[in-house]
Amino acid sequence: MPPPVFRFAPSPNGYLHLGHAYSALLDFDLARERGGRFLLRIEDIDATRCRPEFESAIYEDLAWLGLTWETPVRRQSEHFSAYCEAVDILSAQGLIYPSFESRAEIARLVAAREKDAPWPRDPDGAPLYPGTAKSLSLAERNRLIASGAPFALRLDMEAAIARAGPLAWREQGAGPAGETGEVVARPEAWGDVILARKETPTSYHLSVVIDDALQGVSDVVRGEDLFWATSVHRLLQQLLAIPQPAYRHHRLIRDEASQKLSKSTQATGLRELRAGGATPTKIRQLVGLP
Ligand code: GLU
Repeated sequence: MPPPVFRFAPSPNGYLHLGHAYSALLDFDLARERGGRFLLRIEDIDATRCRPEFESAIYEDLAWLGLTWETPVRRQSEHFSAYCEAVDILSAQGLIYPSFESRAEIARLVAAREKDAPWPRDPDGAPLYPGTAKSLSLAERNRLIASGAPFALRLDMEAAIARAGPLAWREQGAGPAGETGEVVARPEAWGDVILARKETPTSYHLSVVIDDALQGVSDVVRGEDLFWATSVHRLLQQLLAIPQPAYRHHRLIRDEASQKLSKSTQATGLRELRAGGATPTKIRQLVGLP
């Protein structure tokens, strides 16, 4: 049996905090315990928010915590062509369509629908895309694209689910309501998700499943805030005929007000804690790891 493959996949859009430290250390410890490999992946598809200094800080902070990882590190921004290929496969299955509305236009469309009844929200609380662009004719789509209008490529969720059939994943951790074991995927809860944009030819959902497959990741360890995103990941794996890893979603580290940590909170930043004299052992204690 080949060794299991674990990965930690931060986005360099801020400095790491205690929540990242917990995730990375838990991941690394599990890889060690199981005689597995440990990879670091830089999820830097969003050129507007990712910065080289945050990426350097990730390497520095993780090394300080005592982690080691295989090199070269995969940086998603260097692999857009792999994600484009996946979009082409889904397109060929008739599962992708372009939408042209701005965020503000979508908000207006949703507000109009909400006059009658509450409009469904996704597991992150965002209103589902109302599907308006699905009915555009091919000629109209082509005209808009040729005019240079910005667009997003969306997954036709209904058609995708019809093609993939019922799906589940193996959860070794737990979801927000304690879901564990065989968890039934509910991709419909996300509506017609964006898989790529004109400016950024991929999305979080798409690049994460492609990379996990290309890197042979067998075990995904990540925060429970991504638990329900796994529904979309399972669907994409099925449609693209790529293997599914086992998942372990873990509790989130929260601040004193029980809020999820954000990259801007100074008090829990690893750099600040280190400057204040904390040791890696102290960080492990703070997040409740041995
Ligand atoms: N890049 C994501 C984040 O920083 C994590 C992706 C994942 O582990 O699947 O939240």
